Amino acid sequence: MSETLFSKIAAGEIPAEILYEDEEIVAFRDVSPQAPVHVLVIPRKPIPTLNAVQPEDAHLIGRLLLVAAQIAAREGIAESGYRTVINCNAGAGQTVFHLHLHVLGGRPLNWPPG
Ligand code: 5GP
Repeated sequence: MSETLFSKIAAGEIPAEILYEDEEIVAFRDVSPQAPVHVLVIPRKPIPTLNAVQPEDAHLIGRLLLVAAQIAAREGIAESGYRTVINCNAGAGQTVFHLHLHVLGGRPLNWPPG
């Protein structure tokens, strides 16, 4: 059995609208979108938080960003603008302890965020 909610989504054990997948990375729509486009990009490897990333994960973390940019282009928000977010730990709002990159766009996004 898979370890986390997002591992279960990556394994197809819990349904989600998958937008991209390969041997290392899966991207799927957030179930509770905070913007017209809200996609989560995750490594299949169940790294709990950004704090747990190791030097050997550097390539994987870089690929998360590359996939995020591809998704933004495909979703039509690359030029209008989008935000990528990694919440690290509960104080920053992390609720699922499987590393994930939020890709948000399709509406004006204020900065700084609330
Ligand atoms: P966090 O708050 O940990 O940074 O982000 C977790 C995200 O996962 C939230 O935006 C939440 O809406 C999303 N989420 C939680 N459970 C599910 C689920 O079962 N399916 C999908 N697709 N997204 C989920």
